[in-house]
Amino acid sequence: MVLIGILALQGDFEEHCQKVRALGGQAIEIRQREDLQAPLDGIILPGGESTVQGKLLQDLKLLKPLQDKIAAGLPVFATCAGLILLAEKIENQQENYLATLPVTVRRNAYGRQLGSFYTELDFSGLGQLPATFIRAPYISKVSKGVDILAEKDGKIVAVRYQNQLGLAFHPEVDSDDSIHAYFLKICQTK
Ligand code: GLN
Repeated sequence: MVLIGILALQGDFEEHCQKVRALGGQAIEIRQREDLQAPLDGIILPGGESTVQGKLLQDLKLLKPLQDKIAAGLPVFATCAGLILLAEKIENQQENYLATLPVTVRRNAYGRQLGSFYTELDFSGLGQLPATFIRAPYISKVSKGVDILAEKDGKIVAVRYQNQLGLAFHPEVDSDDSIHAYFLKICQTK
């Protein structure tokens, strides 16, 4: 059984825990440094508010150990605010956080009126999937080696780079399980 650590500082971590458990995985919440000592097969960074999560990561001294684990190859799956935490660059913001994923993101990229919406998109290898966007970023630039997994209206909204999977939307709030299943498979074969 795979053991997945779910960053549980703020945001919708509970929905990710439920997805992992529904797929037969084991989920534990990561709230402090010691929690990272568990023999994790993968990590999930949930949606929420990236500035709050980023500050908590720094205050709780979780930033460096998480960065080290991801750099060492631990699979990570990040949604929305989590994607912002992973991105190497954030447009219109000097500060970045884990910066392990070589992409540039634009925060709150869909503006106020279109802040939240539901759609369906074609996800590479998985077909047509539901996608819920909540004050989402999109990916404005990718470096070489980053695979684009989904786009919406010509904007990149899902990527994979080696052990890192980053999505602008929230598969944890929809009934479809296939993206979580895809991530658990990466964790099983790491
Ligand atoms: N707007 C949030 C941010 O910039 C992300 C929103 C989300 O995770 N649903 O951090």
